[in-house]
Amino acid sequence: MAKITLENLSHSYHPTPSSASDYALNRVDLVWQDGGAYALLGPSGCGKTTLLNIISGLIRPSQGRILFDDEDVTERTPSERNIAQVFQFPVIYDVMTVFDNLAFPLRNRKQSAQAIDRRVRHIAEILEITDLLDEKAAGLSSDNKQKLSLGRGLVREDVRAVMFDEPLTVIDPLLKWKLRSKLKQLHQHLKLTMIYVTHDQTEALTFADQVVVMNQGQVVQIGTPVDLFERPAHTFVGHFIGSPGMNLLPCVVRAGGVFFGDHPIAVEGPARTPSSADTVIGIRPEFISIGIDEAQTTPPSIIPATVTSINDQGRYKIVRCRAGNVLISAMIKTAPPALGEQVRLGLRRDQTRLYADGALVS
Ligand code: ATP
Repeated sequence: MAKITLENLSHSYHPTPSSASDYALNRVDLVWQDGGAYALLGPSGCGKTTLLNIISGLIRPSQGRILFDDEDVTERTPSERNIAQVFQFPVIYDVMTVFDNLAFPLRNRKQSAQAIDRRVRHIAEILEITDLLDEKAAGLSSDNKQKLSLGRGLVREDVRAVMFDEPLTVIDPLLKWKLRSKLKQLHQHLKLTMIYVTHDQTEALTFADQVVVMNQGQVVQIGTPVDLFERPAHTFVGHFIGSPGMNLLPCVVRAGGVFFGDHPIAVEGPARTPSSADTVIGIRPEFISIGIDEAQTTPPSIIPATVTSINDQGRYKIVRCRAGNVLISAMIKTAPPALGEQVRLGLRRDQTRLYADGALVS
């Protein structure tokens, strides 16, 4: 296992890049701590695979260095880097048994038959495929093939890190949930440094202790799932994470106060921001109430609005409202208002954020 440091990494597929948009990765500085469970999350095309391939050595970056602990591995080949990778589609040998597939990476490393047997059975047990060990891989269901592929990535104890590139994309949705929890459990058992690449926020948030969010070739936030949910560092993270994402309401800041139209809005911290900045209020639908409980000790800020749609999700309802020309979503568990009804939206102060030019102010 190793701490992996990415130092001022940039990469362009253009032979002569001239502007920021020519770069798939743009000045990324990042440290993956030894033994951590990380997710790399971002929309399609943001540079996740490029970053993964730079760590594994399949791509040489246009600029910057990669360190494993304190050793510079930028010029090293993939096999010298000793990283295990699990891909979107299972990489297995169909003609071999499940046991031999799992044993293969260990036999290549000349481990003893006894050590191989012990490790293969341990991994098979965690993945719940022990009863399939003697079966030919060709006959496995697609889910079991992907479990086996995961096992092949995890079987070696001497790897510097295991990287997963969207490994559950081809899995039946019902089984996805099970394998996701299994991966989390595997991390706790095996203590390997794991980097899990996905564009699916549920996968990222359930697997990782730390999530690295990328957009347009840059890292926009590194944080725990709770940080990303409660305190997005950037409006991109607020909007990208959550379903629906954070409401972003245009506002003005004057005399130390924040206003949505004429309505004063209390944000959690002080409202300090340059007057030239493009400012918005960020609040998640989960923290907006409809109809105000007068007994609350910290009264919420109020925005009058008209209900335009109600979407019943079973355990809660998503109520969309219009205030002027701005749409605001609220997530409520109580009885919903009627369509077209005039309501008072209550914004919980400790979850109301202020952003200037996209970045969190308070
Ligand atoms: P996805 O989730 O769709 O796989 P990603 O976040 O992994 O996307 P990358 O595949 O790293 O993103 O791509 C980042 C950018 O680099 C994109 O604009 C993509 O079009 C471009 N790109 C990726 N590979 C190549 C290549 N081999 N040649 C030229 N451009 C490439």
